[in-house]
Amino acid sequence: MEQLEKLKEFRDLGLSEKVLKVLSKKGYESPTPIQRLTIPALLKNDKDIIGQAQTGTGKTAAFSLPIIENFENLEYIQAIVLTPTRELALQVAEEMNSLSTSKKMKVIPVYGGQSIDIQRKLIKTGVDVVVGTPGRVIDLIERKLLKLNSLKYFILDEADEMLNMGFIEDIEKILTFTNEDKRMLFFSATMPDEIMKVAKNHMKEYEVLAVKSRELTTDLTEQIYFEVNERDKFEALCRIIDLTKEFYGIIFCR
Ligand code: AMP
Repeated sequence: MEQLEKLKEFRDLGLSEKVLKVLSKKGYESPTPIQRLTIPALLKNDKDIIGQAQTGTGKTAAFSLPIIENFENLEYIQAIVLTPTRELALQVAEEMNSLSTSKKMKVIPVYGGQSIDIQRKLIKTGVDVVVGTPGRVIDLIERKLLKLNSLKYFILDEADEMLNMGFIEDIEKILTFTNEDKRMLFFSATMPDEIMKVAKNHMKEYEVLAVKSRELTTDLTEQIYFEVNERDKFEALCRIIDLTKEFYGIIFCR
């Protein structure tokens, strides 16, 4: 009970008790800045949204919680999330599943490298949300395994990475298979012109929700970087680890 009381800030964003219960189980205490901006906008009006948010800022929950809050058990795919990599597709699908309040809500990742047959079988069982990489999504559409003509949400995750990886044409192509009256959400760490162009061409009325840069990082973490030559990268990393007493860390790489 006390835990649910603590979640007041989430409640104030417009989330219901059943969602708060899941958040409490996951140990979330208060919304992150991008969640504060995005969740009420998604729940209370119907504009399209461009959210400026880095990885690790809670953007997955920012777009997933309103979808979960408004989930209805329907016969068709209600939301698609496009991600630049299969790792992100898996991560987003897992996060959405872990936040879901209904056993009926089915979220599946689709990505190149996994057998189409497995994905065909999963889709056939009835799916509500598909999280996928652009190439595989197009493949599934062209094989008539995936229908995106009744979407409520079309979400681009890490839109700037999509652009860097040359996926813009694929995204435009996927959009041609979708219904007009869907809500579009783009999330991106930066806002390059090409992404804004896609937004202007395809979004209806939209708002840009940006987290102030001072809120992007936390004061409790000191951030440092080392400029090294590509060939010295590994050696430098080993030295940093050797120099740091009781090194506990996560190393992110491509
Ligand atoms: P993301 O930016 O979506 O990749 O999220 C980064 C991590 O933060 C994930 O492990 C989330 O489960 C976690 N997270 C998201 N929102 C919150 C929150 N409000 N409180 C605590 N952890 C969160």
